[in-house]
Amino acid sequence: MFFSKEGRIVVLGLVAALLITLLVPAAATAASLRVVATFSVIADMAEQVGGTKAEVSSIVPLGGDPHTWEPTPREARHLATADVLLYNGLGLELWVDRLIRSAARPDLPVIVLSEGLEPIPGASFAAHVHEEGDPHFWLNVQYGMHYVERILAAFVQLDPDNAAYYTANAERYLQTLAELDQWIEQAVLQIPEERRKLVTYHDAFGYLAQRYGFEISGFLVVNPDREPSSREMANIVRQLASQERPVIFVEPQVSSGHRYAEAVASEVGGSVGLLYSDSLTEEVPTYVDMMRWNVNQLLEALQ
Ligand SMILES: [Zn+2]
Repeated sequence: MFFSKEGRIVVLGLVAALLITLLVPAAATAASLRVVATFSVIADMAEQVGGTKAEVSSIVPLGGDPHTWEPTPREARHLATADVLLYNGLGLELWVDRLIRSAARPDLPVIVLSEGLEPIPGASFAAHVHEEGDPHFWLNVQYGMHYVERILAAFVQLDPDNAAYYTANAERYLQTLAELDQWIEQAVLQIPEERRKLVTYHDAFGYLAQRYGFEISGFLVVNPDREPSSREMANIVRQLASQERPVIFVEPQVSSGHRYAEAVASEVGGSVGLLYSDSLTEEVPTYVDMMRWNVNQLLEALQ
């Protein structure tokens, strides 16, 4: 016998330590795609498709407003080492071109998720930064599925070794989203048709209304980068007073809107509801959670 009992334990310990050293770096380098998304809704979709093979980060943090966000040199440095940038487009992230330029990465693959979708045109956008149309497509879950398909196509192209993995994740997720879409379609039928009317602070819910049978009766601002005038306030008070259920909806990331919405609601003895649009939060950490919350809120407020 070459080793005493204690000696064998020492040898076993050394073998175990060696195995751990060999295994740990393998686990830490498992992610093969570095993905940067402009805001949390897109980052969540990218995480669902990318799973453990993608390291996803969001430029605008949870609870932040992608319309008014100001990127810093930190975000540009972050982008300098990314494999792909995912953004919504159609004027939602007004700062994105500047950010790409300051990252100095002319070769960086950039995927515009709204590409291929038909925007809602309209006079309301004519005098505004959203002149190309309403950018909030993902609030219609079928359009959200279009984003997921574009993310999948990008990941497969950039990291073909993991194509089967990304495809399986995306298929599972798209199935969940198809069920979510159908659930919403059914759930809103509980709201009498004449009450399927929305008054909101910011004009973000056009695609939700279009897909699930609501009418947008009014909003205070097209873009949250400015505040409403007194004439706009008076108009919305009149509009809200004419509704069976006088509820004005605000969004958590638009903090300036809450004060105006409270003022409008108190004029008509109405109330303020909360809908998620451009940001996830700790309470609503995924796109699916956000859409479920929105539908439950609409049922509670309008049913
Ligand atoms: Zn918005």
